[in-house]
Amino acid sequence: MSDMGLVVVGAGGRMGQTLIRTAHSMPGVRVAGAVERKGSPHVGLDAGELAGLGRIGVTITDDPVPAFAKADGVLDFTAPAATVEFAGYAAQARIVHVIGTTGFTQENEAGIAAAARHATIVKSGNMSLGVNLLAVLVEQAAQALDPEDFDIEILEMHHRHKVDAPSGTALLLGEAAAAGRGIRLGEHSVRVRDGHTGPRKEGDIGFATLRGGSVVGDHSVILAGVGERITLSHNAEDRAIFARGAVKAALWAHGRKPGLYSMRDVLGLS
Ligand code: NAP
Repeated sequence: MSDMGLVVVGAGGRMGQTLIRTAHSMPGVRVAGAVERKGSPHVGLDAGELAGLGRIGVTITDDPVPAFAKADGVLDFTAPAATVEFAGYAAQARIVHVIGTTGFTQENEAGIAAAARHATIVKSGNMSLGVNLLAVLVEQAAQALDPEDFDIEILEMHHRHKVDAPSGTALLLGEAAAAGRGIRLGEHSVRVRDGHTGPRKEGDIGFATLRGGSVVGDHSVILAGVGERITLSHNAEDRAIFARGAVKAALWAHGRKPGLYSMRDVLGLS
């Protein structure tokens, strides 16, 4: 079988450039296209040159539709509104859409679910093996430890350019904790604390966000009891872990029927 042709959207971004390098070097896939927004200074450049690889013969375009028509899949770490639009085009082209973008509204999520009727979508707030394994451990810990005895808090730190909070990974870990406790995260989460908040409510899952420097992504889930504390942590040191996960997801999804899948499905951790 020939290599899976992948289009990288947001090709000029931090993850976009990492995805170009990764898809260019991993077996079984090739960079079939590269897309940036209209008016981007990167349009017209060679995607490999921008990513520090030297020329690879793929010119960055601002027109996704013809690029998707020639491809088997799309790697997308861009922005919520852009991703919903790309999901529509991936559905039209009936191809794989790997979504790493975070910060979606409920309306965005509904748009992606609709596109998944025709596109094979793998979506995850974190594409690394380590974090998805951590999520399984968090779910087990949350199931084992009663809310009367242990409070769950999630702490994350990212680089100074990150625009959404809490991170998609923090929310993924919160969902895992909520699943372990058999509750809905939306009804039991405290995403910010400020001023006179009163005491902590039993069963809440709290979030705290730090931003600064060049941190790729640090997450800790703290289970705090009276007199003892368990901390489950993951530190991402290199964006390539997300890019390799995304390519792995694309290969896994290739030839699978349309639907909305997660990284846990890809890694066999479901
Ligand atoms: P970034 O450097 O800002 O890159 C985003 C890129 O997408 C930019 O080049 C941006 O172009 C481009 N873009 C935005 N709208 C577009 C459109 N309509 N058409 C084409 N390109 C468009 O951000 P990043 O650090 O790479 O992160 C991107 C996303 O991935 C964030 O949501 C982040 O949270 C997420 N992320 C997820 C994981 C995971 O494992 N799931 C890991 C890392 C990051 P402009 O600069 O011109 O706007």
